Amino acid sequence: MNDIAHNLAQVRDKISAAATRCGRASEEVTLLAVSKTKPASAIAEAIDAGQRMFGENYVQEGVEKIRHFREKGTADLQWHFIGPLQSNKSRLVAEHFDWCHTVDRLRIASRLSEQRPAEMPPLNVLIQINISDENSKSGIALEALDQLADEVAALPGLKLRGLMAIPAPESDYDRQFAVARQMAVAFEALKTRFPTVDTLSLGMTDDMAAAIAAGSTMVRIGTAIFGARDYTQ
Ligand SMILES: *Cc1c(COP(=O)(O)O)cnc(C)c1O
Repeated sequence: MNDIAHNLAQVRDKISAAATRCGRASEEVTLLAVSKTKPASAIAEAIDAGQRMFGENYVQEGVEKIRHFREKGTADLQWHFIGPLQSNKSRLVAEHFDWCHTVDRLRIASRLSEQRPAEMPPLNVLIQINISDENSKSGIALEALDQLADEVAALPGLKLRGLMAIPAPESDYDRQFAVARQMAVAFEALKTRFPTVDTLSLGMTDDMAAAIAAGSTMVRIGTAIFGARDYTQ
């Protein structure tokens, strides 16, 4: 087995173990492989090891990879945009990605909806919540969720699937869990209002177990699969 296949197997084992520990089925937790800054060859190794869902943070880089694998004819891949989204890049996301995790204002949501090509299925979207990171400008407060959810759900080019958060880094498990539970409570409430909602995108390499215990349905893992990222190039 190559490194990436080996790492993927280990991450999948960790997801299963974390799910089992809290009485959940491992199939309830989807693994999104975060491939930002990594070359197409690394993604190809993950695909060979059975991975199909990939997360990208930078629009242009993500679109190049999506085109690459489309031209190669690789079927069934799902591409998730998980980075901060500026208005002037929304068209590329609407035209190429399957999901966007970082919707945090109506203006962006409206543009994505208008720009989604009619022949494609609606873009799956998550509303990003700023749950604990005072320094981050991304995401909305939980108090603003009900209104934005109503507005997003009404847009024809979008399908509201749930919530996403990037909690402030925290090494203590109990504190990770407490923040993740706040997200899970908001997610359960949203689910009762919208039948399309089924996804809570929460948990990265360092807080995956607490996120799964709290109720996450999608963990976003980069480093543990592809190794450390090099931003110098
Ligand atoms: C980079 C990134 C990840 C993956 O982080 P790792 O620590 O490498 O697992 C997950 N989510 C988001 C939004 C990211 O930007």
